[in-house]
Amino acid sequence: MVSRTIPVDAFDLVIFGGTGDLARRKILPSLYRRYLAGQIPEESRIIGAARSELSEEAFRDMTRDALMEFLPAAKRDDTTVEAFLRHIRYVRVDATGQEGWDELRGVIRPGMVHAFYFSVAPSLFGNIAERLLAHSIADADSRIVVEKPFGHDLASAKALNAVLAEHFNEQQIYRIDHYLGKETVQNLMAIRFANILFEPLWKTEYIDHVQITVAETVGVNGRGAYYDTSGAMRDMVQNHLMQLLCLIAMEPPYHFDPDAVRDEKLKVIRALEPVRPEDIVRGQYLEGGGKPGYIEDSENPNSRTESFIALKVGIANWRWKGTPFYLRTGKRLRARTSEIAIFFRRPPHSIFDNAVDGQQNVLVIRLQPNEGINMKVMIKEPGPGGMRLVQVPLDMSFAQALGDEGTDIPDAYERLIMDVIRGNQTLFMRGDEVEAAWAWADPIIEGWEQRGDRPQGYHPGGAGPDDALMLLHRDGRRWREVKE
Ligand code: NAD
Repeated sequence: MVSRTIPVDAFDLVIFGGTGDLARRKILPSLYRRYLAGQIPEESRIIGAARSELSEEAFRDMTRDALMEFLPAAKRDDTTVEAFLRHIRYVRVDATGQEGWDELRGVIRPGMVHAFYFSVAPSLFGNIAERLLAHSIADADSRIVVEKPFGHDLASAKALNAVLAEHFNEQQIYRIDHYLGKETVQNLMAIRFANILFEPLWKTEYIDHVQITVAETVGVNGRGAYYDTSGAMRDMVQNHLMQLLCLIAMEPPYHFDPDAVRDEKLKVIRALEPVRPEDIVRGQYLEGGGKPGYIEDSENPNSRTESFIALKVGIANWRWKGTPFYLRTGKRLRARTSEIAIFFRRPPHSIFDNAVDGQQNVLVIRLQPNEGINMKVMIKEPGPGGMRLVQVPLDMSFAQALGDEGTDIPDAYERLIMDVIRGNQTLFMRGDEVEAAWAWADPIIEGWEQRGDRPQGYHPGGAGPDDALMLLHRDGRRWREVKE
């Protein structure tokens, strides 16, 4: 199959925080991969801007090292890397002072797409936004990209939105949730809205429940102090899992257009029911497998921050009333896996005497590993032994179905950065969406803080606290196993 990429206009992309971890691990390697795909126009430039005193050559060296470290060997060769590095510039700027801004203005060329990636702490967003305009570096056509965390609660998210809105209009602001850039997540929309098969069944009459799992094997790995101020609810549920829930639950937008899609997602968030305390399970990983527990990792012996959370969430609208969405995410679990599983209802009456227990169709959308889609259907077990039913997967792993293109799945950042250059906001969060998600999350967090709830300890390498299993057992349901 021939790879088809939509060309983009030549651009000047400034990465504030160009020497930071995110730039080195994700942004620069993703730009290189797009370069390799022939998608970066020759006149384009990538301009690192950070506080460090670095020569342009030293920043190119740092970029080269980052590509060596974070790209597989098969994806880089010396000639292409050197050609890519010719697009790289560096300007030292101080976000909180006046240094470097005039020089930055001198580097930005008219007639290009201008994008400014704020890969810095959110506390610097206002300083940078203000200086971009004060020094006439950005204008009404420029785009700015901001990263998570977008606020810590509703009040701080509103404050960040207000700071950005003082300088830029909503059409210029690209709030990244990298889950939306994942290929399978976009495929979720393709499956729902490009096939007639699913939509008639996509409602409470036919869907029993939905499970969304994002499991990690790592702990908080050196980010303990930061993570301890956040926790799984803020770090994962309010943004990533919420976005997945929205894409499953939303009504068909009238067009695949930024505001049409985001309007529908917003309606879902606004229809979320408050979550009852008995429908929340929080956990903290214990010491085990030669690794310290959360308490040691966070260096906070009294920490009540959750490294695991499971929630039962209801959506109060005609389509979903009566279909629970069970969400769970946690660290130090058995496997690194992310998936959405849609459990259909059982047939109303079985004509087979020996109907098996699991006579239930399940559609599984795997985000990682092995991105793909799997539908479990009932068939007759082969053989002469009568009408015995068995559940088998109708499997479509992208690797199998699409050959090389299926295994060479672009990183989410590749897609998202190119969308910024194209000026397409569909896969970015709008300000009101982020605020609505916090408005839902805040009372849940306040609730457990007021009650003084403590997370339960759970053993590493498993599926989280026992109570998380009970959350479904209680309803006569079972989580899918956490496995690769
Ligand atoms: P980092 O600490 O590694 O890098 C920070 C960068 O900001 C450095 O380049 C530094 O020079 C620059 N900087 C700091 N103060 C400055 C100032 N006054 N003026 C100019 N530049 C200044 O941080 P990071 O991990 O790269 O994260 C950047 C942002 O992205 C943060 O908001 C973070 O929450 C978010 N984020 C990071 C990751 C990740 O994987 N690292 C993932 C998601 C979101």
